[in-house]
Amino acid sequence: MASVPLLTLAAGSCCEQAEQPWIVDRFDDIKVIRYEVPGFEELPVEQKELIYYLSEAAKCGRDILFDQNCAINLPVRRTLETIYTNYKGDRSSTEWLALEKYLKKVWFANGIHHHYSNDKFVPEFSESYFDQVIASIGEEPFGELTSLRDAVKQAIFNPALYPTKLNQKAGEDLLLTSSSNYYKGVTQAEAEAFYAAMAKADAGNPTPISYGLNSQLVKNEAGLIYERTWYAGGMYGAAIEKIIYWLEKAEQVAIGEQQQTIRHLIDYYKTGDLSLFDAYNIAWVADTQSHVDFVNGFIEDYGDALGRKASWESIVNFKDVEACHRTEVISANAQWFEDHSPINPAYRKPEVKGVSAKVITVAMLGGDCYPATPIGINLPNADWIRRDHGSKSVTIDNITYAYDKAAQGNGFTEEFVLRAEDRERMKLYGKQADDLHTDLHECLGHGSGRLKEGVSPTALGSYSSTLEETRADLFGLYYIGDPKMIELGLVPSFELAKAAYADYIMNGMMTQLSRIEPGKQVEESHMRNRKLIAEWCYEQGKAENVIEWVVENDKRYIVVNNFERLRELFGEMLHEIQRIKSEGDFEAGKALVEQYAVQVDPELHREVLARYQALKIEPYGGFVNPEYEPVYEDDRLVDVKISYPANYVEQMLNYAANYSFLPNIN
Ligand code: ZN
Repeated sequence: MASVPLLTLAAGSCCEQAEQPWIVDRFDDIKVIRYEVPGFEELPVEQKELIYYLSEAAKCGRDILFDQNCAINLPVRRTLETIYTNYKGDRSSTEWLALEKYLKKVWFANGIHHHYSNDKFVPEFSESYFDQVIASIGEEPFGELTSLRDAVKQAIFNPALYPTKLNQKAGEDLLLTSSSNYYKGVTQAEAEAFYAAMAKADAGNPTPISYGLNSQLVKNEAGLIYERTWYAGGMYGAAIEKIIYWLEKAEQVAIGEQQQTIRHLIDYYKTGDLSLFDAYNIAWVADTQSHVDFVNGFIEDYGDALGRKASWESIVNFKDVEACHRTEVISANAQWFEDHSPINPAYRKPEVKGVSAKVITVAMLGGDCYPATPIGINLPNADWIRRDHGSKSVTIDNITYAYDKAAQGNGFTEEFVLRAEDRERMKLYGKQADDLHTDLHECLGHGSGRLKEGVSPTALGSYSSTLEETRADLFGLYYIGDPKMIELGLVPSFELAKAAYADYIMNGMMTQLSRIEPGKQVEESHMRNRKLIAEWCYEQGKAENVIEWVVENDKRYIVVNNFERLRELFGEMLHEIQRIKSEGDFEAGKALVEQYAVQVDPELHREVLARYQALKIEPYGGFVNPEYEPVYEDDRLVDVKISYPANYVEQMLNYAANYSFLPNIN
């Protein structure tokens, strides 16, 4: 599971001048930010070398994600890149700039669909312009792409084709109506039956295999349904072999248990055997000592309507020792937090175990973590491994730091926060509060509580991820204002909680609406959970005026009048959400989500969009990676140099030239 960033971290001071700009590119609804890797230069050379090899492995799977997102993505990207690098005509015309913007969006989303809304991009240049540009270049540089031209043009210009990457509308065939490449010619019923049969054969296995995680499910012309597995000898083999090449180098310089962990991963990539992936995860979760750590594989299943197929991703990182103190204190007190949680004591965990949490510095982002990246991760995802072996939870500090820097002086707090004291508190405590909330959410929230005996973990159906995020967020919100946090030295005073609460309520009720297109409702589960919490507390605290709408100069503001009471409301809500989860009360969960989390007030929505637009703040952010260059003396690697390129287009063209290993059609 992964945490996604709040809208725009609400810290900010307009008088501070950044040394070098943090935002390196902006287009459409996107800003591209650079991040720094503090502490890299001071690492021992063996660790730098390990990071270098793992970073190369992280870049080699990029094409896999493009193909997973839609089968036509690689030909579209490569056609546009060929145009981009060969066009000799006017690069300042409106249509050229529109084509360039479209390509930047394809790079950012790893395909032709928006990374967040999943809707297909609408080109702002014409098909005849596209033809004209290609004619001026000639077909020679396009090679095999020429034969795919019609399919590429259809993908870009025909709105009826591939309209959405991921359809989640109940009642429709979710597979036939989704354009991702996880299933081919298979109906939802056929896929469900295929995997139900596999699960049946595996029934009673205490260590169940995550069937379907690393394969495409296909129906051939004869009607036979089978899996094409992603491994060195199978689908995506050409990219996976490169990943293995770098992992084998990493294995040689890794020490202790980590060497064996990497070996399991290599064996898994070589065979596609999911039990080896489990072995890797078990070894990985047990290793809390290695300074350098990484994720590399088919990990998160958010992109599959059936929640079975995992997209390829990688993150390479090392411990931020100083900041780790924070999560160590939280983990060390995990049992205290559980014992004092404001829920029915019967639903508390008698023994909290296996929560290892740390703060990390990211050194490389790849696949589904690039350019848009999570700010917190809790892995592995297999329930039985979490139950028997625990999980590792991380907060990514240098990424949130870069977000914070990029948001400074953007005018956001001035526009949306009414009271000066709230703005002042957000400026002082905003980042610290966000970090702590992420820590509490990831390393305690998700792991807390237990189910009543006999209740199925899937009882909440399609409402489960919203309610689960709600539970974890409430845990964080409740405890960030607890005197225990001050006693532990993690929070200076209740003022920090006030900053967190004001920000959270404003975001949940108002500012996050800027991410939604006019006429649409709230669909994404993290956004739903924030709205659910904020609206519920507003409603419950109405009689006491805990939260209030204020209109000034024709603008609406949301303010918190009573922070102490709001904290109690978070506790009361956590009690109810935990009850719903523990008892598998589907109807109650559904009623809460439908009443508070989904519907958008169109008037308010229009206002937020207009005010947001006036600020010219892009609602989504992503990153360019640093670059690493090994330094050799004779054949011996003696150092790795880091540099920070500040050009998004150059990085994308560089990756296309050097890290693109798959055929056009896979
Ligand atoms: Zn979460």
